[in-house]
Amino acid sequence: MRKIPHNPYDLGRHDLPALLAEIHDDVRERIASGRFGTLADYIPALADTPSDRFGMAALTLDGDLHTVGDACEPFPIQSVSKVHSLTMALEAEGDDLWKRVGREPSGDPFNSLVQLEHEHGIPRNPFINAGAIVVADMILSHHADPLDDLLAFMRARSGNAALDVDCSVLDSERGAGFRNVALANFIRSFDNIHNDVAKVLELYFAQCSLRMNCVDLARSVSYLADRGRCLVTGEQIISAERATRINAVMMTCGTYDAAGEFAFHVGLPAKSGVGGAIVAVVPHVMTLCVWSPGLDDKGNSLLGGYALHRFTRKTGLSVF
Ligand code: GLN
Repeated sequence: MRKIPHNPYDLGRHDLPALLAEIHDDVRERIASGRFGTLADYIPALADTPSDRFGMAALTLDGDLHTVGDACEPFPIQSVSKVHSLTMALEAEGDDLWKRVGREPSGDPFNSLVQLEHEHGIPRNPFINAGAIVVADMILSHHADPLDDLLAFMRARSGNAALDVDCSVLDSERGAGFRNVALANFIRSFDNIHNDVAKVLELYFAQCSLRMNCVDLARSVSYLADRGRCLVTGEQIISAERATRINAVMMTCGTYDAAGEFAFHVGLPAKSGVGGAIVAVVPHVMTLCVWSPGLDDKGNSLLGGYALHRFTRKTGLSVF
């Protein structure tokens, strides 16, 4: 007789609190032996974060929340914000967005300038810095108060009405953002930025400086797991098709030039930031957020990636 295969998507099969506790123990062991990666000290304000932090939050679409470690400690979300800004820009601009930003992995570091020259100022995808800067430009074109609207969006999605920009990180980004300034001006020279470059950069730096924790971030991407419906407010905020497409771009581009490795080892749409957070989506099932500020050489959280790898290996909850 044919054996009925286990269904990893049946959450009843998994003891999520026990699994998270096990992952936490493993990660703490790695931290104790100094295997936690390096801080993103090119943004001076990030260099002060204690390297021994680790938090993880798992939110099921039934509304069950499981956390371990420093899941409630806030940090700058950095490039994780590129998921939310892309969502806002797609709603405002529609699919014409894809005429100004591609959706291919770049295979280059997140802050690279090299492809832009050959590709006439069209960034490869919305998750490298160049692409996110064009996305910020689109938000500026459609919103009279872009930062207020971005904040309102993030607060609604996460259910945290108090979340805000971390001003010391914002100052640090402004002071050290030489490559981003270069990227924005270079793209402007190809007419792919339509607003004042300084205003575009200010919005981009502010979104990177938003201070949130693992619970906030896991909640904030629930719409990507639930076909466009936000678990916090119950609203359909984007179409199911658009949620699918954003997940696809997260899978192929969300962890930069490590996206292939991530697909291989984790197998989930994910987005990282140099603050050490990674959000991941198990479509139709749950969202995850891990945070550990030490990074690998591609700019992704070293222990965050390890924790997600352990999670999907143990549960089988990958999209493959
Ligand atoms: N603010 C960072 C930068 O612009 C964001 C990069 C990231 O998180 N990968 O360099």
